[in-house]
Amino acid sequence: MSAEIAKNSIENIEEQIREEILTKKRVVVKIGSSSLQHPMTGALDLNKMEVLVRELCNIRNSGKEVILVTSGAISVGKRAVNVENPNEHIELKQACAAIGQSRLMMVYQKIFAEYNQVAAQVLLTKDIVTNPVSRKNAHNTLMTLLELGVIPVVNENDTISTFEIKFGDNDTLSAIVASLVEADLLILLTDIDGLYTDNPRTNSKAKFIDTVDVLDEKIMKMGSSETGSSVGTGGMNTKLMAAKIATTSGADMIIANSSDIRILHRIMDGRHFGTLFKQHKDDDFDLIKMMEEIEKRG
Ligand code: GLU
Repeated sequence: MSAEIAKNSIENIEEQIREEILTKKRVVVKIGSSSLQHPMTGALDLNKMEVLVRELCNIRNSGKEVILVTSGAISVGKRAVNVENPNEHIELKQACAAIGQSRLMMVYQKIFAEYNQVAAQVLLTKDIVTNPVSRKNAHNTLMTLLELGVIPVVNENDTISTFEIKFGDNDTLSAIVASLVEADLLILLTDIDGLYTDNPRTNSKAKFIDTVDVLDEKIMKMGSSETGSSVGTGGMNTKLMAAKIATTSGADMIIANSSDIRILHRIMDGRHFGTLFKQHKDDDFDLIKMMEEIEKRG
């Protein structure tokens, strides 16, 4: 491809609208711990949280249904009680989660209230995947909250989660939530622009991928180079696993940069921000089988 044609096609992409995004009705937005904090101090970035909540309320005001999946419980908790490394003991980590989750919700509730938006806390464990009764209950509760016009704020129930009942990371959790409520779109906000052919922090030749039509092995392998931050638990690998769950269950997924949270309305306007993974709904989608497959991949 000549340089001229390549330049034109990039300009075209920027002018084009992702028409399919305009029709989305039920949206799950996931934000990671690192995106909610000041990098130097680890304290909550209240401006970012304010913009996040305003963007979510505005999506809701436009007539769409919104669910937020948020991390941050453990990192907010450890800061509150000056614990350096909560990962040393599971009970310490769980105690930090208990402290941090309520603090996190207090801040969210305060900002949601400013926009007159009712929010609800929903804490989940992995048995919503493995136990059909829990799954049905989680589904019913989330659907009822959406019908009531509420924005559910979801996190893993880290305080009681031990290895057997743990999702492990909120990328996976957000994709499971998307499948549970039959969302049309999952947006993962993170500290990178989207998917690259290689880690752009170490390989200057790594190319940005605008759209993934088919999530094949070649794409899945791009997650193996480490591109995530050290604050949360999810790197690119877990995001691609999340894409597998979300797209097979029928939701498009976008990985986008959280450095300016206003990216949310730009995405919802159909503009080309982040990497779009197109959905390929499998009518035989089985969450338990999918999770087993993902656990095997590690
Ligand atoms: N659930 C954890 C928390 O709120 C975070 C998990 C993750 O970062 O993926 O601290």
